[in-house]
Amino acid sequence: MSATIIDGKAISQQIKDELKVKCEALKEKGIEVTLAVILVGSDPASQVYVRNKKRACEYIGYNSLSYELPEDTTMDKLLELIEELNSRSDVDGILVQMPLPPHMDEKKVINAIDPSKDVDGFHPMNVGALMVGDKGFVSCTPAGVIQLLKRGVPDLDISGKECVIIGRSNIVGKPMSLLMLRENATVTVAHSRTKNLPEVCKRADIIIAAVGKAGVITKDHVKPGAVVIDVGINRTDDGKLCGDVKFDEVSEIAGAITPVPGGVGPMTIAMLMNNCYEAAAMHKLGE
Ligand code: NDP
Repeated sequence: MSATIIDGKAISQQIKDELKVKCEALKEKGIEVTLAVILVGSDPASQVYVRNKKRACEYIGYNSLSYELPEDTTMDKLLELIEELNSRSDVDGILVQMPLPPHMDEKKVINAIDPSKDVDGFHPMNVGALMVGDKGFVSCTPAGVIQLLKRGVPDLDISGKECVIIGRSNIVGKPMSLLMLRENATVTVAHSRTKNLPEVCKRADIIIAAVGKAGVITKDHVKPGAVVIDVGINRTDDGKLCGDVKFDEVSEIAGAITPVPGGVGPMTIAMLMNNCYEAAAMHKLGE
């Protein structure tokens, strides 16, 4: 194996430790950081995500308020709760765990969150801010990828590099492309209709795969020495976690690569915690 393995677990720990120090400094000024987490229904994966977010809050020293609502909660009830949390001055961030039950309108729920408390970065105001280069909350997974590139490959200068992002979803691919543009990369966004994907990918100095299909990115997609970031989380037939990238063969030729698990995954929570800090600093310090 020749590639450097980018350790997302270690980098996310580093970010959480930095936030812990910043949180203590806020507390000395009498300021608390509070995240409200809403879970509707009892999807097991969502329960795990929510538990991990609460644990991260505890570790850093934030308060977390937890609202676990039954599956048959009405939209009106959920919107009422969001409205109440929007108006509470002690609450800095509001997170509604997705996916919501089928009878709920996810867009309407996201739009109901006060953009200054939208720590997931999904509200159209925050998406628009990213588009035009204004201050706002950035979707946590793509923000985490930027940190992985900067901290995990410190000698990489993103500016001017060819970056191919595979995937164009609202939560990963699209914001990822805007963030890489902000870093002055030359950005190509590929998707399911892209022709000659291996050829397109082979141009890249940096490949970011966010497809959701196990092993679609092989050594035939990767230029020797390229940095490969694997956002995908998939399960193999025997129940193991794996990414979109064929790790064994790509790590033979890539310059640096993220593993799954232990790459992008841990970064998402770290960046959520960072957004919570930013929200508190904005609300309570006027930053
Ligand atoms: P979506 O399903 O919303 O988007 C997938 C994208 O991949 C689409 O744009 C689709 O194209 C494209 N695509 C599908 N098949 C191909 C193909 N064969 N070749 C090229 N492009 C293809 O997924 P998400 O963006 O929400 O998530 C992507 C992956 O990242 C998933 O595995 C998800 O679990 C993971 N993820 C991981 C996170 C983490 O914390 N590590 C957080 C969020 C997501 P088209 O638009 O044309 O349909």
